[in-house]
Amino acid sequence: VNAAVVTVGDELLDGRLADTNTSMLGARLRQLGLTIAAAHTSGDPEADIVLALRRALEDAEVVVVTGGLGPTEDDRTRHAVASLMGAELAFDEQAWQAIRVFIEKRGFPVHEANKRQALVPAGAEVLPNRFGTAPGFVATLDRPGGGCGRVFVLPGVPYEARGMFDEEVAPRIGQAGEPLLQRTLCFTGVTESVLGAKLATFMREGQAVRVGINAAWGFLRVTAQCAEAAALDAAAAEIKRIGARFLIGEGYVEIEELLAARLLEKGITVALAESITAGLAAARLGRVPGISAVLLEAVVAYANEAKQRRLGVAAELLEREGAVSEACARAMVEGLARESGARLTGAVTGIAGPGGGSDAKPVGLVWFATCFDGQVRALERRYGDVGRETIRQRAAVELLLLMLRALPPS
Ligand code: ATP
Ligand code: MG
Repeated sequence: VNAAVVTVGDELLDGRLADTNTSMLGARLRQLGLTIAAAHTSGDPEADIVLALRRALEDAEVVVVTGGLGPTEDDRTRHAVASLMGAELAFDEQAWQAIRVFIEKRGFPVHEANKRQALVPAGAEVLPNRFGTAPGFVATLDRPGGGCGRVFVLPGVPYEARGMFDEEVAPRIGQAGEPLLQRTLCFTGVTESVLGAKLATFMREGQAVRVGINAAWGFLRVTAQCAEAAALDAAAAEIKRIGARFLIGEGYVEIEELLAARLLEKGITVALAESITAGLAAARLGRVPGISAVLLEAVVAYANEAKQRRLGVAAELLEREGAVSEACARAMVEGLARESGARLTGAVTGIAGPGGGSDAKPVGLVWFATCFDGQVRALERRYGDVGRETIRQRAAVELLLLMLRALPPS
């Protein structure tokens, strides 16, 4: 069964907003065993949405649409679907009650404009939305080449679209084919070309198990895909064996999930001291459910004075070496280990730019230190003047990676 995704919104076309709904829906549709034939993004005008829907229906029997269901005049998705159906928009009393309850529960006034969100094409089935105001709907439309297609229409807000897909759309589609079986193994301390060469036999075309390498900052993800579970497991075991020295975890995951998995497995407590990243690394760790079992604290020590007061970094050291130095990174991590009592600690200090660099200490210079059970290690990175946000994000990821590598092999 073929599927297509249609996302609606001028802001998706003119660079204001990156479209995340297409990949979110693509992954879920693939999991239900559908083939993703195409994805289209349409601007807000009704005629553009109609065009995108027609194209989608040319390729697919199942179409999922997000966006343009809001209460304002420029939200035209429901109109576009109705016009393709040759139907009128009808006011759905039950949907209206649900909208009112949702808004009132949050203590907001209900406006007349919200009534627009209770309009659905006559003949369509309403899909309740417990995540937001606008309900979705599903309609059956004629396909250009003959036959019928089902069009599921969801709000644009990503968590509403995701929740409604899982609760309302997926059960209506059902398992249409084999789900995609895949396993991902994560490696660090080895380059893509070296690991790729070791796995060359797997990566030739026409293999039953398809293997691909995807480089993330600081580590590599090797994903194996195959329709057969036994063949997939055998391949994963072999890939693990080949890369054993560099293996840091399993799953298509981020660095914080790899680190958290190791910490939680062993019950190792952790704390962070961040200057340049101002809490980015701790915020990533905080995304992992259950992290409170091991995460003790995170200190954002931005000013020199804060590094002294919160982490006990000596004033003379800061004076002599500067805040972006190996000595300061080491002193930060030692102070944090002492103060927090955590078994694993990490610290980072650097120059994010655009100003503040010098010949000796250019923008993009970052010092890291980790401490595990009293053993301190420091490392310097020079990312170059690649932009403030890139430097900060890279430094946050690298800190978590170095903390993972500070742990003994599992
Ligand atoms: P609402 O009823 O909340 O207005 P809507 O169905 O009208 O929902 P839009 O107005 O198109 O949806 O989008 C609402 C918000 O959801 C946008 O401001 C944007 O932040 C986000 N959004 C919409 N479409 C996408 C998308 N394809 N990818 C990521 N975010 C999106
Ligand atoms: Mg809107």
